[in-house]
Amino acid sequence: MHEVGIMQNAILMAEQQARDSGASRVHTLRLRVGDMSGVVPDALEFAFETVAKGTLVEGACLVIERVAPACWCAACGEEFVCEDLNYDCPRCGAFSTELRRGTEMQLSSIEVS
Ligand SMILES: [Zn+2]
Repeated sequence: MHEVGIMQNAILMAEQQARDSGASRVHTLRLRVGDMSGVVPDALEFAFETVAKGTLVEGACLVIERVAPACWCAACGEEFVCEDLNYDCPRCGAFSTELRRGTEMQLSSIEVS
């Protein structure tokens, strides 16, 4: 379950940001998780409880923002949501091989005090 490692990294970053702004508690932790990232949101939430213990993030609210996959068409420049791994451009019909969004796994923002 690599979600534990991902969560550890996210919490380390959040703690760093909190300390940098002189805060002693993190109230909300927002993560952006792409649908194509291979990360399971439920597993992240499960890992969060355990990993946050004893950190500035303990007791914080975890918000996971899902990001729908989006492709970019090199032929016509159209960006489109690609559902069910259908990468055909809806505008010109060309096959897109470039996934622009949906693979991210990042700390989006935190609320501290
Ligand atoms: Zn196109």
